[in-house]
Amino acid sequence: MVKIERTPAQPASLAKKISYREPDVIRQLNEDFHGKCYLCEIDKLQSAEVEHLQPHGGGEYLKYKWDNLFLSCAHCNSVKNQKKYDGKILDCCKTDPEAVLEQILTEGHICVRNLVDTPEARQTAKLLTECFEKTNTGIRIIECQTRINALNGTMNLLYKALEKYRQNPAGHNLCVLRGMLSRTYKFAGFTRTYVRMHLADYPGLAEYVQL
Ligand SMILES: [Zn+2]
Repeated sequence: MVKIERTPAQPASLAKKISYREPDVIRQLNEDFHGKCYLCEIDKLQSAEVEHLQPHGGGEYLKYKWDNLFLSCAHCNSVKNQKKYDGKILDCCKTDPEAVLEQILTEGHICVRNLVDTPEARQTAKLLTECFEKTNTGIRIIECQTRINALNGTMNLLYKALEKYRQNPAGHNLCVLRGMLSRTYKFAGFTRTYVRMHLADYPGLAEYVQL
């Protein structure tokens, strides 16, 4: 999870309060969220959904409130749909998740730790872990494995790119890393955290992983 710069003006169709899935809403969400699920950060969404950060419970205000609409995958939307998360998840358009969460892949497992002790940081750390690890149904076993595999692939590419950069920190090698450390990149919460934790080895990359 990374900070998202949401376009301040709401898409025009929301004012009509007919649907929060009108093309202009989806288009703006897809652009603002860089085509990624805001929770697991998988890209090229095949089952994109509009997620309500605060459950609307049928109420019109939260249902059509632009600031309450987030782009997610169907899997993460379903995992988040638990009472314990209602009203307790960080708003990544207002708070920088990287300032309050440490997002790590270690030996094929997700480790998300809250760096500050607030209910939002605690519950968001739990939710992000569950998006990759909650394997309580047959479908979720596959969905979680897909995300772990994709994240693993991305991290392996990152390690290779870092090794090349260590040997030659200029030109193309730096350019590749800048891309992987951009908030627009898939799983950027993990790639950026990894580099931030290893800045002693790559001090030249500090400016690309700043909060
Ligand atoms: Zn997701």
